[in-house]
Amino acid sequence: MEHDIQRAQSLADKAERVLVITGAGISAESGVPTFRTAGGLWNNIDPAKVATPEAFAADPAFVWRWYDERRVQLKEVQPNPAHHALARLEAAKGDQFFLLTQNVDDLHERAGSRRLAHIHGKIWEVRCTREKTVREDFRAPLPEIPPRCPHCGALERPNVVWFGEMIDQDAAQATELFLSRCEVNLILVIGTESSFGYILDWAMRTRGKPDSLIEINPGDTALSPYVDLHLKGKAGEILPRIVPER
Ligand code: NAD
Repeated sequence: MEHDIQRAQSLADKAERVLVITGAGISAESGVPTFRTAGGLWNNIDPAKVATPEAFAADPAFVWRWYDERRVQLKEVQPNPAHHALARLEAAKGDQFFLLTQNVDDLHERAGSRRLAHIHGKIWEVRCTREKTVREDFRAPLPEIPPRCPHCGALERPNVVWFGEMIDQDAAQATELFLSRCEVNLILVIGTESSFGYILDWAMRTRGKPDSLIEINPGDTALSPYVDLHLKGKAGEILPRIVPER
């Protein structure tokens, strides 16, 4: 492991252009539950009850109460050393760095990341179901459930991507642009099962180039068979060693 971490550090140091993909696992050490892992959010509740357009249409207040609870939990947590390490990597690489996160939390931003996109939306944004306008709302708990659009009075929904919905198109485009504009030397995939086809596809863009795909995850995932280096451990312990404070 020690040798692998050193190898990863040297690859990250040398790489001219880096794409990072993160999932729920990077926020786990901040105290945010993941979806599918032990103790995950889905263990107590059927996702079809809260994270689908059908569930929202059937009972918006029920869905909102669940999201409100998550927002309240997120208010309490802080970015962990893995989020901070990625902010340092971005500071070192500048425009040659891009972070694609599947997380709806804002822990990357709070750690200082700026060149990033949320492929599954953001939990601190709400969207008018009639006008489709999006606004930020950091109040938790919300004063009114379900919230209503301040302009037209229609129901608002969390601006997150639910099961069966399209991924965020701006985020997808930004990722494609980053990958196609210049050759990416290193892809780091952290804390995700890589269970979505588009994530696997982006993660494997450098396939064939030696030493270009690193995974950080204590478990095996759909991506693991294809990576050049699998650092099996917690992101908050491994990443700060790959991108140390200088
Ligand atoms: P997932 O829950 O399916 O998988 C989490 C992964 O993280 C697992 O592979 C697990 O082994 C790994 N992991 C757990 N602890 C870790 C640690 N300390 N360091 C590194 N890895 C660790 O999550 P997913 O693959 O991101 O996909 C599920 C969906 O859940 C995504 O769409 C995401 O938007 C959503 N989600 C987001 C949040 C959040 O915003 N924080 C939380 C839960 C779920």
